[in-house]
Amino acid sequence: MPCTGGLNKLSMEALFSNLKHTIVSPIPSLFTFNMPGNEITKLMGVSVDDVMARIPGTKLESKGPLLITHWGMSGPAILKLSAWGARDLAQMQYQFRVMINWIPDFSEISLREQLNGFRTQLSRQLILPRNPFSLPQRLWEYLVTKLAHVAPDRRWADLSAKEVNALVRVLLFCEFEVKGKTTFKEEFVTAGGVSLAEIDHRTMESKLHPGLYFAGEVMDVDGITGGFNFQHAWTSGYLAAQSI
Ligand SMILES: Cc1cc2nc3c(=O)[nH]c(=O)nc-3n(C[C@H](O)[C@H](O)[C@H](O)COP(=O)(O)OP(=O)(O)OC[C@H]3O[C@@H](n4cnc5c(N)ncnc54)[C@H](O)[C@@H]3O)c2cc1C
Repeated sequence: MPCTGGLNKLSMEALFSNLKHTIVSPIPSLFTFNMPGNEITKLMGVSVDDVMARIPGTKLESKGPLLITHWGMSGPAILKLSAWGARDLAQMQYQFRVMINWIPDFSEISLREQLNGFRTQLSRQLILPRNPFSLPQRLWEYLVTKLAHVAPDRRWADLSAKEVNALVRVLLFCEFEVKGKTTFKEEFVTAGGVSLAEIDHRTMESKLHPGLYFAGEVMDVDGITGGFNFQHAWTSGYLAAQSI
C-alpha cells in the first residue's frame, strides 16, 4: 500500500513508473508570498482581520485575515489563495501581482460616499490620526501617506477629488508585486500525485492493479489549512485498511 506522503516528481516517477499509474505533476501548496524590497514589509507583524486578496488576470480570490511579514504577506487569506492557485502560480513561476482590498465590506460607490461624507462630517479633523475603517493605525498611515500620497497635515475638508480617487485605489485595489514564495513553517502540502481517476474512492484500491491500495498525500489531493490534509490521510488510510 503506497502511503509515502507528498513526493517530488522524480521520486514519484521512480516509485510508480512500473505501475503505469498517471502522476499529476506534484507541486507545493500552502505557501506565503515574497515581496523582496517592498516597503510594506516594514509593517511586519501588522495583521488585518478581513481582507479580500485577488490575483489580477485570474479568477483566484480569497477572503480572510492577512498578516504582513518581514518577507511579504501571509495569513489565511494568502495561504488559501496559494492552495487554490497552486498550479496557476507555479506556472507563473511565482512572479505575479496580488491585489488587496483592505476593507472588503465597501464597494467603490459606498467608499466614495463614505469618504465624501467624512469631508463634511469630520471636516476640521486631520485625516491621519483618525482611522475611520478600523484598520491598524500603522497600516492606515502607510496607505494614506506612502501609497495615496496624501500629506500628513491634511484635514478631511481639504481632501481633493484626486486624493479621494487615490484613497479609493489604495483601500480597495492595492496591488503588490510578488516575487517568489516561502513555505510557512507550520503549513506545507503537495498538490498533485497519483491520479484520482485511477483509484476507486470507496476502497482506495487501484483501478489498474487489483490488490494495490493508496492512502494519504501520495494521491492527487490537497486541502487548505485547518486539518483537512490530516483528515484526508486518516480517512483514506482507514478506508484502505478496511478494504484490505
Ligand atoms: C510542517 C508541516 C505541517 C503540516 N501541518 C498540517 C496541518 O496543520 N494540518 C493538516 O491538515 N496538514 C498539515 N500538514 C500536511 C500533513 O502533514 C500531510 O498531509 C499528512 O501528514 C499526509 O499524511 P501521509 O500519511 O499521506 O504522509 P506523511 O505523513 O508524509 O507520511 C509518509 C511517510 O512515508 C515515508 N516514506 C516516504 N517514501 C518512502 C519510501 N519510498 N519507502 C518507505 N517509506 C517512505 C516518509 O518517511 C513518511 O514517514 C503539514 C505538513 C508539514 C510538512
